[in-house]
Amino acid sequence: MKVFRYSQARSIEGAVRAGATGTFLAGGTTLVDLMKLDVLQPPAVVDINGLPLDRVETLPGGGVRIGALVRNSDLANHEAVKTNYAVLSEALLSGASPQLRNMATTGGNLLQKTRCYYYRDTNYACNKRQPGSGCAALDGFNRIHAVLGGSDRCVATHPSDMAVAMMALEATVHVQGPKGERAIALDQFYLVPGNTPDRENVLLPGELITHVTLAALAGGTRSRYIKLRDRAQYEFALASAAVAVSMSGRRIQRVRIAFGGVGTKPWRSREAEYALEGHDAGTENFRRAADAAMADAKPLKYNGFKIELAKRALVRTLEETTQAA
Ligand code: SF4
Repeated sequence: MKVFRYSQARSIEGAVRAGATGTFLAGGTTLVDLMKLDVLQPPAVVDINGLPLDRVETLPGGGVRIGALVRNSDLANHEAVKTNYAVLSEALLSGASPQLRNMATTGGNLLQKTRCYYYRDTNYACNKRQPGSGCAALDGFNRIHAVLGGSDRCVATHPSDMAVAMMALEATVHVQGPKGERAIALDQFYLVPGNTPDRENVLLPGELITHVTLAALAGGTRSRYIKLRDRAQYEFALASAAVAVSMSGRRIQRVRIAFGGVGTKPWRSREAEYALEGHDAGTENFRRAADAAMADAKPLKYNGFKIELAKRALVRTLEETTQAA
């Protein structure tokens, strides 16, 4: 049995103080599993479920503020989210199961741990779990691993659907820590593994995600999320695409694109965006954008199929989004 300290935070300041030497517990859908598997062994667990961070609020100039403890199912079904940010609602509803969505939180979803089987099995070498121990996936069965953003230390994908949609919506993550509050563009929040795959994001010890904000989208913006996976439900993405697009006639004025299932972080593709903005909607241009998005993809032994799969996911998502415009 592993011993750890458990405490319940009564205030955000108290949580930040207690969290400096431990980890935060929200929905527990990742943390508790990994503690049972001995993958994570935090000395202290700070339960933040009593904090007032469980509301979705619409902002005066448009936009929305999402508390870190808003459950995934509540967020997916919130009227403002369904109406204005369809891509986010669709991504959330494509993830996990209804029971898990009822527990999982916005902050926790952003911090989900990879589903790499070697990470979750302490019999295998894993630089993310134990820095310097090696990476069993590089020469192992790497069908679910990343084709973008990997290194010779780690090629694990980030598993979140929600974060991919938020990447296409250019979300901002708000945190509070020992040195005060700060706002981080989601695009700057995640780190690629490089030499330090155990460090997955820019959060500092004790920093607590308090909320996420989404800016208002330009009038007429449409958005969509498509997820491709081995089975229709309760499965992680092999490739997914999130798109938010505004058009003038058939001309694409502004588009934001992100991929899931193929990158070591939720993967925004500026290459695909540049390839589309100012051009007409159409399968040929969508395919060109998809090729640009995957130009730097590096397949491993078993996951080369993901490159074409991701391209098709993007083309289909763009077709469905712009057909309805
Ligand atoms: Fe660990 Fe990353 Fe290698 Fe998986 S891919 S075994 S998470 S180092």
